[in-house]
Amino acid sequence: MKKREIVIAGNWKMNKTPFEARVLAEAVRERCENAACKVVICVPFVDLFQAKEGLLGSSKIALGAQNVHWAPSGAFTGEISAEMLLSCGTEYVVIGHSERRQYFGETDESVNRRTLAALQAGLKPIVCVGETEREREEGLTESVIARQVKAALTDVDEAALENLIFAYEPVWAIGTGKTATSEQAEEVCRYLRDLVKELYSDAAADALTIQYGGSMNAKNAAELLSMPDIDGGLIGGASLKPDDFAVIVNAGSEKAARL
Ligand code: PEP
Repeated sequence: MKKREIVIAGNWKMNKTPFEARVLAEAVRERCENAACKVVICVPFVDLFQAKEGLLGSSKIALGAQNVHWAPSGAFTGEISAEMLLSCGTEYVVIGHSERRQYFGETDESVNRRTLAALQAGLKPIVCVGETEREREEGLTESVIARQVKAALTDVDEAALENLIFAYEPVWAIGTGKTATSEQAEEVCRYLRDLVKELYSDAAADALTIQYGGSMNAKNAAELLSMPDIDGGLIGGASLKPDDFAVIVNAGSEKAARL
């Protein structure tokens, strides 16, 4: 069983033209090339080639996408296949981001189908789960996480789990500037790890990378990453600012050095 990995991933969302993506990827490479943790930039589909160029074959910084379809090809207008992503040098893919669940009809079932297809093709899924503000207020956080995690992992075997990352992203904290406290984030990440322990094994749960996402920034990253069950971050807004992103990556490197 592999060792747990610290992974800091930037989610650029729908930002940057290909030219801008190359410039930003170069800026990330200049600042993060010596990171002791894994660094990923998840870019829009049209930016994949240029972002890859900007990374200049970096062995530390990997390329990610923000969605993948479950079919290998066919009549699925507007979608993209795992093979297409792989052919652009993509290693990671964000699946089930709350913005996709909220605005584009992504369901627990489609998240599972995309996850299985990604794993089978050799892409590493970053599967997003998280409760809304209302669900938290109603005391439903754990049941929502349990439902989303179990659904995402349907038919995923223990060996494949090695290549999967979970991102705990409370919906109320995404792009809002409201961050979960480190205790709130840790509580849910530990719950998620315990769930994986129940579903698989101690070793699988121990090796699993669980990221926190939701207004993580240069100021709060070190504190969030100091928690024992937070193994990285999925970073939206701050990933577009290379200096801020580098501070978060440094916090990830420090955590990796402590493992
Ligand atoms: C995200 O897009 O996954 C995210 C966490 O965004 P932000 O950091 O901007 O809240």
